[in-house]
Amino acid sequence: MGARIIDGKSVSREMRENMGVEVSRLKMSGVTPGLAVVLVGDDPASLSYVTAKGRACAEVGIRSEDIRLPADVAEEELLGTVRRLNVDAGVDGILVQLPLPGHIDEDRVIAAISPDKDVDGFHPVNLGRMLLGHETFLPCTPHGIIRLLERTDTPVEGAEIVVIGRSRIVGMPVANLLFRKTEGGNATVTVCHTRTRDLASHTRRADIVIAAAGRPGTLTGDMIREGAVVIDVGVNRVDDPTRPRGYRLVGDVDFDDVKDKAGWITPVPGGVGPMTITMLLENTLQSARRRAGEDPS
Ligand code: NAD
Repeated sequence: MGARIIDGKSVSREMRENMGVEVSRLKMSGVTPGLAVVLVGDDPASLSYVTAKGRACAEVGIRSEDIRLPADVAEEELLGTVRRLNVDAGVDGILVQLPLPGHIDEDRVIAAISPDKDVDGFHPVNLGRMLLGHETFLPCTPHGIIRLLERTDTPVEGAEIVVIGRSRIVGMPVANLLFRKTEGGNATVTVCHTRTRDLASHTRRADIVIAAAGRPGTLTGDMIREGAVVIDVGVNRVDDPTRPRGYRLVGDVDFDDVKDKAGWITPVPGGVGPMTITMLLENTLQSARRRAGEDPS
């Protein structure tokens, strides 16, 4: 039997519909949720992410504000922009699109964002809160992965989970969310990375594999056990002269090879990707609820 598809697009659609209702309710109480997105430079991939975020905000009724700065902007000017947004009462969430140009210290910029508006969940204070299992903004991609896993009805508690990748934005936080002693956690998590000696020996034991390596073909059918849940976080461009743009997007998982053996699988595109933006909207709403004096959770 082939794997069932975890349809991130339809999960996102459903969540965004509910958010639209929630936004209308907040607006009636006088609070219009607002997200400020800061883009430095004109990297095409970053530009398309920022555009998609603006579109998603419009879809659910969140006010979005785009701030474009030139690629050679001084770090101080960017920090000044962030500080201004920190005190702007109409802004519930601030997102600085990464990566930033090399002359800017990303950590410094992230640390300058008010933790109360850090809807990306990358601020050290929020990462610390997450580690401790406290209420906070959870990083969007890892949180989206948790939501997708819930849709498979696969028990996470007690499961063997292998995460491929240990980055700050995906691998490290998703591993933490899955092993922490909170609802949706309590799994036994192995984190693999470029220094892992025998990746397949780990992935073959796993009930759930989360691939976030940024390399096509990182996970193949022979590397999983029958019925495993496979979450493909990777978004990689591979040359494809048959496509108008000359490339297509693939994940880290060899989808065709894995799909007959896995129990569940996320496609790329249409799996984790849409969830990332949806969780950004959710964090912005969480922040707006706090501004409205409500319980943010
Ligand atoms: P990264 O380059 O920061 O980290 C990759 C990690 O994978 C590293 O920790 C590295 O040690 C590990 N790794 C690389 N090759 C490996 C291998 N062969 N075996 C074991 N480990 C290996 O990347 P990232 O920012 O975490 O992103 C990972 C992928 O996820 C990228 O394709 C990125 O585009 C994608 N991504 C998608 C979304 C989304 O919303 N769908 C969000 C963020 C990232």
